[in-house]
Amino acid sequence: MNDRIIRDLDPTQYLNDKLNLYIEAFISYYGEEYREFIENKLNNIFIIAYQHDIDFTYKLRLLEEQLGQDVVKDKSKEYYESIEYNSTLRVKLLNKYRKEYANRVKYLLPKKYHEIVEQYIKSDNPPFIFGIKNNCFEFEEVLGDIKTTTLYDYFTDEMDEKLNNSEVSDVEKQTIIKKRMKYFKTIGIDMGDDYSNYTKLEEYPSPEMIREIRKIKKQIQDLYNLELNSKIYPNCLFNKKEKEMGLLLDSSEEFSLIRLKEEYNCVHPNIRNNKGKMELIPEMFIYTGIDSLQRDNIIIHELNHIIEMALMDVSGNMVTIRSGWDITQDIIGEKKEHIELEHNARKYERLNEIINELLAIDIHKKFKSMYGSVFSSQNSEYNLSCCYLEQEYIAKDFFETYKKKIIESRLTGNMQVLFDAIGEENFEALNNLVNEEYQATDDFTKTTLHDDIRKRRDSILKKMNLHTMMHTSANNTNQIMQERTINRS
Ligand SMILES: [Zn+2]
Repeated sequence: MNDRIIRDLDPTQYLNDKLNLYIEAFISYYGEEYREFIENKLNNIFIIAYQHDIDFTYKLRLLEEQLGQDVVKDKSKEYYESIEYNSTLRVKLLNKYRKEYANRVKYLLPKKYHEIVEQYIKSDNPPFIFGIKNNCFEFEEVLGDIKTTTLYDYFTDEMDEKLNNSEVSDVEKQTIIKKRMKYFKTIGIDMGDDYSNYTKLEEYPSPEMIREIRKIKKQIQDLYNLELNSKIYPNCLFNKKEKEMGLLLDSSEEFSLIRLKEEYNCVHPNIRNNKGKMELIPEMFIYTGIDSLQRDNIIIHELNHIIEMALMDVSGNMVTIRSGWDITQDIIGEKKEHIELEHNARKYERLNEIINELLAIDIHKKFKSMYGSVFSSQNSEYNLSCCYLEQEYIAKDFFETYKKKIIESRLTGNMQVLFDAIGEENFEALNNLVNEEYQATDDFTKTTLHDDIRKRRDSILKKMNLHTMMHTSANNTNQIMQERTINRS
């Protein structure tokens, strides 16, 4: 019972508690000879399993209903506190950024409102709805909360286009016109319900002004989101723990951005100086919000990235890390301000991900036979939803045929064992094929490309087979010669 409370309300703790089960499944799949290697890799990681407050509150209510409020409350005092902390933080930051917003758009408003905006900015406890009854000027309604639509939003170019578009319904057009008239009435200009009375007014907002207000609002929204995400629970815990652990690469910004994305899972390498020796501490971000059928598979996918990750070199501030068949670099002390989650793919990234997912599917089967569902909902069946699996058909046969060599090369970081078995040029050809398929973006090109790619895939596989046969027979001949030599001596 407590297990479920921890799983739903403190997923990071839950994942740390259950990590051993995942480790055993990995050992069972890769072989007992890898036990020490796998245990070393997976026991030295920093896990953050996160969810949004809305998921959290939903799960909390559900648990209270099923187990009784007292039971849940007793076991989860700090989780209740974290919800309260988050809601206080939101109110505080909303106030801060509303004032900032008011301050920056003030000069765009009619002069007679400047003083009242000043008062608003100075007040300790600004009202949620700010209005002047006599003048009918309502700050919130005109300029809007920084998070919602405002009356200004009905004056944009897009709205003008809608009004001139014959395909837009009359109802929608009427809404736009009514909102515009509401704007004028709100700022104290009431000329009845005929829209044409308003269009020639001096106070009619200019397109430049609307664009400026929207630009400022977008900037304020971004600042608000960034600060909120860096301070919100569990981000604040993450930042604190990262410092406590002495990690050298800065990934707090990255975590903030990951949290802004829905359901984002990834691993991020980090390092620390352990008595003069640099060691790798990978960070793993797992989203556990909504109930997922595939959570265990996702966790295994990310853990497998960690097993295949190794610190290659630290020289000066430059950190070089191997990840499967790929090499990545990071810089110590570099503050990442604008991280693009959709970055340019590395050379082997696509193929790497496909193979990683195929391995994860295999390992998950093992895991399920050993422990059933741990983080996933009960009795879930895996279905192919990983975005990389669109190109799976290119690599599946290659994976099944050369699984042993593939695993060996990925765990040791030695690609030569794979090249020796199948030929480097054939491996490169297969990788190019995956990238080519991925780059064909529209469906039409993809469909016509599919048959062609299948043919080329089969021809690459034949060449791989041929290489294996020649390589193996050459080895056998060598062995026989050696045996003869031994016999002679
Ligand atoms: Zn991945």
